[in-house]
Amino acid sequence: MALVRRVKEEGLDAFLVINTENSDHANQYYLTGFTGSLGIVWVGEKCWLGTDSRYTEQAAGQVEALPVNKVQGRWSQWLVEKLEHAGVRRVGMAATNVSVKVLSDLRSSCPNIEFVPTEDWIQETRQVKEPEEIERIAAAAELTDKGLKWILGRVRPGMSEREVALDLETWYRKQGAEHVAFDLIVAAGPHSSRPHHRPGGKKLAEGELVLFDVGVRLEGYCSDVTRVVALGEVPRRVREVYECVLAANQAGLEAVRDGITGEDADKAARDVLANANLGDHFGHGLGHGVGLQVHEGPRLAPTADEKLEAGMVVTVEPGAYLAGEFGVRIEDLVVVRPDGCEVLSGFPKQELWTL
Ligand code: ZN
Ligand code: ZN
Repeated sequence: MALVRRVKEEGLDAFLVINTENSDHANQYYLTGFTGSLGIVWVGEKCWLGTDSRYTEQAAGQVEALPVNKVQGRWSQWLVEKLEHAGVRRVGMAATNVSVKVLSDLRSSCPNIEFVPTEDWIQETRQVKEPEEIERIAAAAELTDKGLKWILGRVRPGMSEREVALDLETWYRKQGAEHVAFDLIVAAGPHSSRPHHRPGGKKLAEGELVLFDVGVRLEGYCSDVTRVVALGEVPRRVREVYECVLAANQAGLEAVRDGITGEDADKAARDVLANANLGDHFGHGLGHGVGLQVHEGPRLAPTADEKLEAGMVVTVEPGAYLAGEFGVRIEDLVVVRPDGCEVLSGFPKQELWTL
């Protein structure tokens, strides 16, 4: 395993992925296939997964490549004993994977061992997807598109944002999604200018936009797509802004390829909005990686100097937000390829969809 080599190169005796109830399970799942909420993955001379009695049966069914150890008593105490018994001196953990509390508990109960916070090397590895992972993401994207089509056949003026979001979430779950990939965003009228709006009691109204930013988790993998639709006739200015954001989306898609930096991809789309005097209304980055987590590396943003690589899956999501008026974002999920990108989001966007 490349990770074992990396651990050695960094002068570490072992590397731990620790998942308590509150942490993200993506790295644990990636390494082992285990979805339980207590897991300790030990990467070193010997690799294994530890979990407690609530999950041992589940782990036996999910984990093939590693032996499963049964954690007894307090997991931190159990782990400390394992570390001391193994004669480990320096142990690494991704800084983003452990809380300050976990780290300080381990340090105080085990003063002879050095606990070293590191970069998240597993997350870095996860950025370039295997073909089977891309298939799963594509399946999640396809289900997401179908749900959009389903909900757009049902939304009517007078329904609340919350009602629409809940109906769509229920539909996704019934169709086999494990969960939604994030709290679905349904933003009506002026709420569409808030990029991460939480759906509330506002009712959809004739003559306004509705923004849907939605995604599902299917077989562990996420999707993420945004479309805006109009309920009846909307002002000309809204259509103009839609056209500009669409042009920015297309410029972004044309730029994304193996070898381009996240910064240059972002710039390709950002320039289009800047030329239309909408640059000040596009505050966030152009996109982010998607996989086991809906937001993971790489980033496409003005400060992202890392290069995109073939096999990465990223979003391209320029937006223009006119506070208090309306906002437009068009988000596609794409696979980076050697000479371009493959768009996984199939929901139409070429003109403002009007209900
Ligand atoms: Zn999104
Ligand atoms: Zn996104």
